[in-house]
Amino acid sequence: MVISKMIPIVERLMNEGYIKNNKVAEALLKVPREKFVPKELRDYAYIDTPLNIGYGQTISAIHMVAIMCEALDLKEGHKVLEVGTGSGYHAAVVAEIVGKNGQVVTIERIPKLAEKAENVLRELGYDNVIVICGDGTLGYEPLAPYDRIYITAAGPDIPKPLIEQLKDNGKLVAPVGQYIQNLIVVEKKGKKLIRRNIGEVAFVPLVGEEGWHIEE
Ligand code: SAH
Repeated sequence: MVISKMIPIVERLMNEGYIKNNKVAEALLKVPREKFVPKELRDYAYIDTPLNIGYGQTISAIHMVAIMCEALDLKEGHKVLEVGTGSGYHAAVVAEIVGKNGQVVTIERIPKLAEKAENVLRELGYDNVIVICGDGTLGYEPLAPYDRIYITAAGPDIPKPLIEQLKDNGKLVAPVGQYIQNLIVVEKKGKKLIRRNIGEVAFVPLVGEEGWHIEE
């Protein structure tokens, strides 16, 4: 089923060159974004903007999900690690792209958000997504290595454990920085890391052992 309210947004993102891969377009057309936003914000679900999801966190704008999916060069069957589950929306889009033979492991540090995301993902039948509550800057060793890794919160640099848990020839996409943040794409080629900056972005902070240290 296609979500009709998403059609004009996806068309615009294709015309503007953000979406090149049809699989990304198809995934965005399938995932009901309104299920991942708080009830009182449902009317805004099909506007291409970030929205508050509580606990000081946000669901990413639709174009940002598209840009990151494109940069990750996702393929059917990939095992993907997401750091920063938030609402679970981005994980659902990636789950559509990697398909039943693929898997998405997503980590969230705020227990209530992890629980809510897990419930929506279960309700919508995304059985290929595993939600973990914990510090994603350490990755998730039990299911490593991953074909692709992405972070949806900005840290001081790319956490080392994530580079270690990435497969050879794997790709990682993450925002890096504090006031000025850049979206970084890392390709792992043996011992070599090829790093590219694909533009300025704005994300919530990555809080954790290999992220920012915030007293609570
Ligand atoms: N991908 C999300 C966007 C969530 S915003 C979506 O589609 O809705 C980023 C999320 O990263 C927030 O929920 C925040 O709590 C979480 N986060 C921040 N630091 C983290 C860490 N070290 N480990 C796991 N999650 C973290």
